[in-house]
Amino acid sequence: MMSLVVVAIFGFSSIARAEWMGETRPMMGTEITVYLWHDDVVAGNAAVEAVFAEVARIDDLMSTYKEESLLSKINREAADGPVPAGDELYRLILRSLDISVLTLGAFDVTYDSVGQHYDFRERQHPDAETIQQELDNIDYRFVITHTDTQSIEFAQEGVRINLGGIAKGYAVEQGVDILRQRGVHNAIVTAGGDSRLLGDRRGKPWVVGVRDPRKDGEVAVRIPLENDAISTSGDYERFFDEDGIRYHHIIRPETGLPAGGVHSATIVGPDAVITDALSTSVFVMGVDQGLRLIATLPDYEGIVIDASGRMYYSDGLRPPEQPGTDSEAPD
Ligand code: ADP
Ligand code: MG
Repeated sequence: MMSLVVVAIFGFSSIARAEWMGETRPMMGTEITVYLWHDDVVAGNAAVEAVFAEVARIDDLMSTYKEESLLSKINREAADGPVPAGDELYRLILRSLDISVLTLGAFDVTYDSVGQHYDFRERQHPDAETIQQELDNIDYRFVITHTDTQSIEFAQEGVRINLGGIAKGYAVEQGVDILRQRGVHNAIVTAGGDSRLLGDRRGKPWVVGVRDPRKDGEVAVRIPLENDAISTSGDYERFFDEDGIRYHHIIRPETGLPAGGVHSATIVGPDAVITDALSTSVFVMGVDQGLRLIATLPDYEGIVIDASGRMYYSDGLRPPEQPGTDSEAPD
């Protein structure tokens, strides 16, 4: 008699227990986190798995670290003639080129000709001669797109592309799409510095912290968000210091050197593909040029922290409460 009651309670709770669930895994050279609310634990876990599977699929297609990826094939062969990229990769490359036009070349996926010679874990950077030679291969206009066959061709030998400044935004955007299709209404998907939010946190906004670029684990500002994407590019993500110079992973295409003047750039807006590419772009463009660009984009806002730690906001972002005052009561 007693055991029957227990079984009944368990049976009931495993069907109807609604809860927050999530997981973090190392992928795409960073950490991917999926966190969502679901009325059904089993379906919720399946949704979490589906997002990780999607991220793995995108990485397999677009990673330059994987020789078998289609992007690696393009990098090997596109100087010899058009290489079919398939609809998805072709369209993401087109969007990258659009961002190059928009940012006057600050965002340029061909930065990788020089970029490939940096290894931040091994503390390696290219010498002046290598940079000089490879700079001739950096120009997004060297990427020729053939619409009819969705093929990519490079104008010359030595051109390479790397989607590291946009692929994580694409991955979180795709991840949220999958969750939406599975009936999830409240979620956050994060890939390193890129997050895409779905809905709110059930009655309250998500509160996303922008890291203090020079104080590990500290938050410079908290932003309440719903249904938005937010991306931060920082010089603390992948770097090493040598002779007083910080070598980090955001490269100024004109010089082949890490962009100076800014410690981090954060962009908020509806589409994570755009916030990701723009955070990299605004980092390269700097405070003035970067915020001027953001001012022309009605749906996008930005926060730039310069090399002296000063914060600059785009017009649409009221400077939020400083951390510590907590009048937003994020938790
Ligand atoms: P992360 O989330 O890895 O910090 P970011 O959005 O800050 O990524 O972009 C940095 C990445 O973008 C680099 O690791 C590199 O792959 C790529 N990248 C660096 N410089 C440029 C550039 N000028 N244009 C386009 N992509 C770039
Ligand atoms: Mg970016």
